[in-house]
Amino acid sequence: MSKTTKFLFIVLLNILIVVVEIIFGLISNSVALITDALHNFGDIISIIISFLASLFATRGATSKNSFGYIRAEMMATFVNSTLLIITMSFVLYESLSMIFFSDQINNEIVDGKTIMFVAVIALIANGLSAYILQNLQENKKDLNIRSAYLHFLGDSLLSLAVIIGGFMIYFFNIYIIDKLLGILFSVYIIFATLPLVIISFRSLMDIHHSIDIEEIEHEIIKINNVHGLHHAHLIEPSPRHSFFYTHLTLEKNLSILETEKIITEIELILKKFGINHSVIQPEVKKELNEPLFRENY
Ligand SMILES: [Zn+2]
Ligand SMILES: [Zn+2]
Repeated sequence: MSKTTKFLFIVLLNILIVVVEIIFGLISNSVALITDALHNFGDIISIIISFLASLFATRGATSKNSFGYIRAEMMATFVNSTLLIITMSFVLYESLSMIFFSDQINNEIVDGKTIMFVAVIALIANGLSAYILQNLQENKKDLNIRSAYLHFLGDSLLSLAVIIGGFMIYFFNIYIIDKLLGILFSVYIIFATLPLVIISFRSLMDIHHSIDIEEIEHEIIKINNVHGLHHAHLIEPSPRHSFFYTHLTLEKNLSILETEKIITEIELILKKFGINHSVIQPEVKKELNEPLFRENY
């Protein structure tokens, strides 16, 4: 199956959940099911965002888009993981308030069987979506796909909570278990998703680099005839791209060929730090005492 077919399949699975939830929600007059149908409708939009981002991310550069769309992945990760945390916080809030206002639990018992049946279908569809996405992750760095995977994993766990809850109610008259599981699973998903929000936010804002520029400088100034660096910049627009820009002050007036040799040495050092593209401006006297980081522009 191609990537496109897999995404299309996940979209269809989620349309199935929405349709089933709306039908049974209307039949059994269940607000919970209609609410979850809305949530799953949101999931369809999320998965489409992830799909478009993974398509765009591989597009090459043009004269109007010199970076291509390498930020698409971080953008999708940020939007989807933020939405996921909001959704899961809502689940957490609902579970907590249902525990403290037990009337709502009693209302739900009426349709326990219908809700269980729908939850089984949702578990299969969400579980299958999560499984497909897990296999689509080429590595742990595929953040966009990972955020979608975590989402469906969360949804599967919540469906499981509903089934276990329904089961406990049906056989043992224990009413609280699916709410407790709801709390447990939503807290787990929130904590698993939080790093993705942080990583994508930092990348989009170009803050808090994963590489320390002072460490790079420390290595580069060991090279013969290198005086120092100034006005350095690092950007990490995607998990696979790190770009480094710097001015380089040389000890003396070297030929262009000799300077090129130094730059090649620097590029080797940068490669060790995981930087795959750099721009280096060689100077001798131009800005002798400039700081490593420029304070303002
Ligand atoms: Zn969802
Ligand atoms: Zn300079």
